Amino acid sequence: MSENLKIGIVGAGIQGVCSALFLQKKGFKVTLFDREDPGSPAASYGNAGHFSPYASIPLNRPDIILDIPSMLLSSAGPLALKWNYVPKMIPWFYNFLKNCTSKKMMHTAKYMHQILDIAIPAYDELFDEIDIAELVENKGIMYIWNDQNLKSRELEIKIRDEIGAEQQILNKKEIHDLEPNLKKIYHAGVFYKKAKHTKNPGKIWLKLFNLFLSKGGEFKKSEVETINFSEEKPIIKTKENSFNFDKILIACGAFSKKLTDKLDEKIPLDTERGYHIHFKNCENLISRPVVFSNRGFGMTPMEQGLRVVGTVEFGGLENKLSKGRIKNLVNNAKFLLDGLPEHDDEWLGFRPTLPDYLPVICPSKNYKNVFYSFGHHHLGWTLGAISGKIISQMMANENTNLDLEPYSSIRFF
Ligand SMILES: Cc1cc2nc3c(=O)[nH]c(=O)nc-3n(C[C@H](O)[C@H](O)[C@H](O)COP(=O)(O)OP(=O)(O)OC[C@H]3O[C@@H](n4cnc5c(N)ncnc54)[C@H](O)[C@@H]3O)c2cc1C
Repeated sequence: MSENLKIGIVGAGIQGVCSALFLQKKGFKVTLFDREDPGSPAASYGNAGHFSPYASIPLNRPDIILDIPSMLLSSAGPLALKWNYVPKMIPWFYNFLKNCTSKKMMHTAKYMHQILDIAIPAYDELFDEIDIAELVENKGIMYIWNDQNLKSRELEIKIRDEIGAEQQILNKKEIHDLEPNLKKIYHAGVFYKKAKHTKNPGKIWLKLFNLFLSKGGEFKKSEVETINFSEEKPIIKTKENSFNFDKILIACGAFSKKLTDKLDEKIPLDTERGYHIHFKNCENLISRPVVFSNRGFGMTPMEQGLRVVGTVEFGGLENKLSKGRIKNLVNNAKFLLDGLPEHDDEWLGFRPTLPDYLPVICPSKNYKNVFYSFGHHHLGWTLGAISGKIISQMMANENTNLDLEPYSSIRFF
């Protein structure tokens, strides 16, 4: 039956492309729409490249509320605001604070763990069909910190033990043995052995997109303006044309709200803006991703050089890149490594984030042939394949054997 069904997907980021590939496996005929060519410049290109199955502890935590003012005031810290956006951000922030109880944090951790735990096997189903030999490294991911932050790290370590996420606590010597070029500013750390990283997220994204095309998938380079309906069947409207489908998926990352608002779903999606820079020819200074927890930034060895990634900036989708945040990344990288040259490639990207730090992976509450997959915040790269697999099973009316209610948009109403 799937063979006869036409699916339209709005957004060809990692979520859209992975969904398209899993839908094709089930025999659906899929068309992807994106205003840009896949591969860049969206979040799926510029991220830190971590596959992080361990990362189930969300940012909505009781202990973080007290830290927010000092984080905002520190120029070395991870948090920033665009003041012109503060009034628009107030409802999201109020909702976020309501989600900072221990109970809500544990709820998010449990249901992030449910999908993170099966995220890498889901990618393996797609990676079987493309050559990733030079692009994915199995060297784990290391977090380090100095002692002023140990208390909050202890909370995370305890919760990870409770939910069964594998971790190895590191002392100073073990950190030095793994990454001898790091300056010895650290006190302790944690190593996630099963985590992986890619040396070029954009290249993997493009390979997956080309696989989709090679299997007969269609791509329309166009901005989708609205969704109409004819007898419950969705019609995707671009500036130039209209396209009729049996079912559609909205997977526009942080931009999804522009379309869901038009479908009368008030989903409280906003963005946490993040940045990257590269230090060319410095990728060999470390062997694996290193995250410095105190300052909330990380460094990943990539094909383009050493990619330094970080910042959570609340400022919406329209404000320009902040030079102050670039300076923050440069200074932070120099805090951990000696001998870095001038940086290149200043990039701003948009993490799609809901106030409870769970994604929306569900059918629309108002239209039975419309589905959503967005809001994967800091983990949308890791969760690309598993979310796509779940969406394909939902669209095919199959049982996933997962508890999917926590990812429903109905939770906001
Ligand atoms: C600095 C930074 C570091 C990160 N590091 C990691 C990491 O290490 N590991 C991890 O798991 N995650 C990471 N993330 C998160 C991850 O990158 C994102 O969650 C993920 O890429 C989101 O994918 P997406 O497909 O939902 O959205 P996007 O990648 O944003 O793609 C959305 C696509 O929709 C298109 N689009 C939008 N609106 C329309 C429209 N109306 N019509 C047509 N097309 C449209 C856009 O052009 C875009 O191509 C990071 C994010 C940032 C910003």
